[in-house]
Amino acid sequence: MAYKIINGKEISAAVKERIKKEVETLKNKGIGVGLAVILVGENPASKVYVANKKKACEELGIKSFEFKLPEQTTEEELISLIKKLNEDSEVNGILCQLPLPAHLDEGTVINTIVPEKDVDAFHPVNVGKIMIGDFDFLPCTPAGIMEMLAYMNIDVCGKECVVIGRSNIVGKPMAMLLLHKNATVTVCHSKTKDLKAVTSRADVLVSAVGRAGFVTADMVKEGAVVIDVGMNRNAENKLCGDVDFEAVAEKCSAITPVPGGVGPMTIAMLMQNTLTAAKKQNNI
Ligand code: NAP
Repeated sequence: MAYKIINGKEISAAVKERIKKEVETLKNKGIGVGLAVILVGENPASKVYVANKKKACEELGIKSFEFKLPEQTTEEELISLIKKLNEDSEVNGILCQLPLPAHLDEGTVINTIVPEKDVDAFHPVNVGKIMIGDFDFLPCTPAGIMEMLAYMNIDVCGKECVVIGRSNIVGKPMAMLLLHKNATVTVCHSKTKDLKAVTSRADVLVSAVGRAGFVTADMVKEGAVVIDVGMNRNAENKLCGDVDFEAVAEKCSAITPVPGGVGPMTIAMLMQNTLTAAKKQNNI
């Protein structure tokens, strides 16, 4: 089957171009857009993510405030920094890169960021708003996937959509966003019985498991759209997704590659959320 590649690089470039123009328009009105990114410790993957976020800010004219804190930072120190940033009018969005070192409680830290600046949309207030469909920010990865589907003119209304994974940052909000677009949604997880029977029904299959080669061709319906959220390393230490790309692509109508699929969209949507925050805080 001839399949289309859903090109996250191309789609994120279009999204970023739109954001850049809006940031410029705001600047011309004397309104700056700023994002504070906090990194605690030395997690190598987190360092790469934070560097990429900083680069995206620079590209789009968004001011980035970087806070690199040592591994042994106390919860009081981190919370005191977040409280300062909550009050700083130059900072429109605050992001604390997860995971945090084990001695810091993620829930406490996330809850300290004011919901208006919570550009990751992890605060319970924002999570609740997503549930009822009245939201300011959407979590970046699921939002990026919805943007990709829209760009590709893939309408999920009435379709069978299956999400593998139920994390708070990907699986659960993904299911909710698909539901808001009138899809019939099934969420699978490690206790799902007969996963293949469920995934084989999917018109749109989203995999957010975190295991290389997890989604094989026999799990996918002919003509399905496959979205691969996974970011894994294969045996050769190369970045790869959850999906056995070569074999699955042959059965699909459209598929996201890894790298160059969902990843670039996540950062673009973070920039979008920062812009949205700046506009809301300036009553625009
Ligand atoms: P997570 O919190 O570890 O969640 C993984 C999910 O997969 C869990 O819900 C788990 O089920 C489920 N699972 C594990 N084994 C399974 C099995 N055998 N059958 C069915 N379900 C199974 O991971 P996450 O944070 O959602 O991330 C998932 C992947 O996406 C990772 O590779 C991560 O690096 C990647 N990611 C990529 C981006 C991006 O921008 N591209 C952003 C975020 C995450 P249980 O709940 O039952 O344990």
